[in-house]
Formats: sequence, structure tokens, C-alpha cells
Amino acid sequence: MRQPNQDPYSDEAIRGRAQIVWNRILDAGGSVDTVRILAITKALDPSAAVGAIAAGLFDLGESYVQEFAAKAPTVASSSRGEQARWHFVGGLQRNKINMLPPVELIHSIGSQKLATAVGSRREGQAVLVQVNIGMEAQKGGCHPDDTAALVDHCIDAGLDVQGLMGVARQAADDDTTEQFESLVRLADDLHLPVRSMGMSADLDLAVMAGSTMVRIGTALFGPRPPR
Ligand SMILES: *Cc1c(COP(=O)(O)O)cnc(C)c1O
Repeated sequence: MRQPNQDPYSDEAIRGRAQIVWNRILDAGGSVDTVRILAITKALDPSAAVGAIAAGLFDLGESYVQEFAAKAPTVASSSRGEQARWHFVGGLQRNKINMLPPVELIHSIGSQKLATAVGSRREGQAVLVQVNIGMEAQKGGCHPDDTAALVDHCIDAGLDVQGLMGVARQAADDDTTEQFESLVRLADDLHLPVRSMGMSADLDLAVMAGSTMVRIGTALFGPRPPR
């Protein structure tokens, strides 16, 4: 029988949901060798990140600098907390770079100004260039046509560019697939191995198109509290 107060972030609960996500990845033609799951813990209590690590999900993603800076020490001091590999996936303002805890990968370099600022403070930082594949005015990322120039600029700024990241505009499946395929074509042309694309709702299409890193929040942790 289900306990009335079952912890939604227990390692068993998260492991069960991660299995469902892995099944979707496998059905879409991905595998543990080709796709990494990033557990997006933004807006959630630190216990979500601790539970993810206990469930064997070591790649964790955050979106808000202040929240992340407050949460990281709590997670680090938990058992196995030192195994966390943090990623930053949200919009990054230049005046908050100094507050950002150390991260394995910044997914959201979308402008030359930001690249310059990050490069000057964190030489050699591994990054992804974010591309606005859905061409939405309110979304981050560079125009697809500017991707090559921004990658070059990042390299000149001392950053280690490993790949591209994109968030698809909500659309019919064919259209979503086309957006993901456009990111893969850009990454292929630039010989960049990492394609960070796919979230809870569209990870299947992203993996079919060639994602190497899916960023999953809701499907692992349930709905987020309103911010
Ligand atoms: C919040 C967020 C996600 C996770 O979204 P879900 O739909 O909850 O899986 C992925 N990527 C980015 C950039 C996000 O901000």
C-alpha cells in the first residue's frame, strides 16, 4: 500500500522514474553509451538533488544562480554529495558569473558578450553554445546562422566548446523533430560531439534526432512548485 507521506525524492521513487525515462530513451534508439540523463533540480528542495545522486544520477542541472549557490553546499555535504557533477542550463547574466558555483558544463552560452565574460573569469571552462532552434524572441540562444561565429568567439575567449544546446519550441512532432535535426546538423558541421536537447515532454524526438544529453526535470521529480 502506498504511504500517505511517501517522500517524492526518495532514491526508490527517483530510480523508478529514471527507469521509465531510460525505457523511453531505449525505445527512441538511444543507449546508456550514447545518451546521458541530466537531472534538472531547479526550483526543488536540495533533497531532490540528494535523492537523484542516491539513485545513481550524478549529472545535475540548475537554472537560477542564487538558488544554485544556496543549494550546492547542502548537496555537497550530503553522503555521496561529492559525486555530483553540476551543469548550469539557465539564462546566465554577466553580473552573476562570480556567484556561480563550479560546474562541469555551462549549457547556455548564447552571446559573444557572455562568452567573453565567462572566458575572462573561468579560463578553460567547458561550455555549450545555446542555439535558438525554435527562433522564439523570448528564448535564449544565438540565431542558428550565428552559431559558427559564436563557437569561434568562445574558443578565442578561452572556453572549451564541447557542443550545442537547444530548447525546442512547442510544436507538432514533425516540426519539433526538424528543430532538433537542425541542431544536430550544426553540431556535425562544427565537429562538436555534445548535443544537449530534449526535456520531459520531447526527449523521445530529441533522442531519435541524435541527442547525447537529455535535460529532465518533471519526469524524474514530478511537477515543480510555481516560482
Ligand atoms: C527546466 C528546464 C528543463 C527541464 O524541464 P522538464 O520539462 O521539467 O523536463 C530542461 N532544460 C532547461 C533549459 C530547463 O530550464
